[in-house]
Amino acid sequence: MKILCIGRNYVKHIEELNNQMPTEPVIFAKPDSALLLKNKPFFIPDFAKEFHHEVEVVVKINRIGKNIGAQFAHRYYDELALGIDFTARDLQSQLKSKGLPWEKAKAFDGSAVLSSFVSKEKFDDVQSINFRLDKNNETVQEGNTGHMIYSIDQIIAHVSQYFTLKIGDLIYTGTPAGVGQVAINDRLKGYIEDEIMFDFLVK
Ligand code: MG
Repeated sequence: MKILCIGRNYVKHIEELNNQMPTEPVIFAKPDSALLLKNKPFFIPDFAKEFHHEVEVVVKINRIGKNIGAQFAHRYYDELALGIDFTARDLQSQLKSKGLPWEKAKAFDGSAVLSSFVSKEKFDDVQSINFRLDKNNETVQEGNTGHMIYSIDQIIAHVSQYFTLKIGDLIYTGTPAGVGQVAINDRLKGYIEDEIMFDFLVK
């Protein structure tokens, strides 16, 4: 399986990092070794200083497809999860300034936190889901999937022009505003609506 991620998909997050508005979805990938499952702790690596949380809704692909039309994209996923796209922000800034790929800052071991999945049928509208991240019992990020620049269906249509989607592939759909640094002993809890999706420690 592969992990595809969308960057710059919420306006307020673009503004907080002084990034440019995209004219098409920004795509990057993580290897499966990036997954951090089952509320295991996130161990801060020693190759950078500033690791940021980015809470994101994650889509799991349920059938193979290429060049999927946006109007059919809803058939390609049944389940959603909540994840964190951990980012070594200082390292990413260095790489961006040199025009180099982001993988070292985005795709390292443990950088893709993933909760268990919930059926999309639980929601009236997948583009109207509230989600949030609490750090040490204080809400630091709040989002609603209605604020995505590119909807889930548009994302699936776009990425499948380049990458054949396969069963079990994951798409991280971008983070809302409020990204910030994590420190040892932080406790991170993620919620979709009022349901807790993950709860783990930073070590
Ligand atoms: Mg992200």
